[in-house]
Amino acid sequence: MSHLSYLQWLLLVSALFAAAERLRPARAAQPPLRPQLWNDLAYLLFNGHFYAVVAGAWVGAVALTTREGLARAALLPEHGLLDGRSFAVQAAVYLILSDFLQWCVHNLLHRVPFLWQFHKVHHSIHQMDWAGNFRFHWVEIVVYRSLLYVPLLWLGGAPESLFAVAVFATFWGHFNHANVDVGIGPLGYVFNSPRMHLWHHDASDEGGTAKNYGIVLSLWDFLFGTAYWPRDRAPLRLGYPKDDDMPRDMPRQMAFPLTARPSR
Ligand SMILES: [Zn+2]
Ligand SMILES: [Zn+2]
Repeated sequence: MSHLSYLQWLLLVSALFAAAERLRPARAAQPPLRPQLWNDLAYLLFNGHFYAVVAGAWVGAVALTTREGLARAALLPEHGLLDGRSFAVQAAVYLILSDFLQWCVHNLLHRVPFLWQFHKVHHSIHQMDWAGNFRFHWVEIVVYRSLLYVPLLWLGGAPESLFAVAVFATFWGHFNHANVDVGIGPLGYVFNSPRMHLWHHDASDEGGTAKNYGIVLSLWDFLFGTAYWPRDRAPLRLGYPKDDDMPRDMPRQMAFPLTARPSR
């Protein structure tokens, strides 16, 4: 299976969660063919492809240039810290480090008004399911990946470990957004989950966009005081305050950050 491309993995994981939502839905009244589903599937293919091909090439170029620059300045160790380590060790270190960096970037997406305009696209989801995981502006990929890969240069290690972490993170991202009634018990203090991530999409002042920045791991939110998870209820409305300014189709959503007036 390891020879599957990223896009093939993405489609496989998507089919898995589409089936899981039919078998064990958290919100049974939510129709599978919900509004904007086709729009989100277009995002899935566009962002999945963009991630795998365009972002891969861009990040590869940035990483190579940075690596050469650092090597010339004698700032790069001859061997990466993870070179020669087992696949499991490399993957675990990549996962923990990249997830923490993404937690930091996700904070910036909410706290820097210019970036929040882009991230609003993801927060315009009103009915949550696995397909919503890929509703985000492609600029997010550029921001995340550029900031992510440069520190990883020092680690070295095999590209296969990085690829495995990317697939695992996609699986967990789908899980976080999926309409599935699956709890993970005490593991919820370490790993993110659908019930916790739902509160990140809360449109009210209660929890909402100021809490739960975790991607795969919820650990960072519990460590840094940004966790918010009332266990006895779910958010009343998903979205962000005054989200009726968001267009409903992908082309206009792509243009939205550049055309809309910045607001919280
Ligand atoms: Zn989300
Ligand atoms: Zn967010």
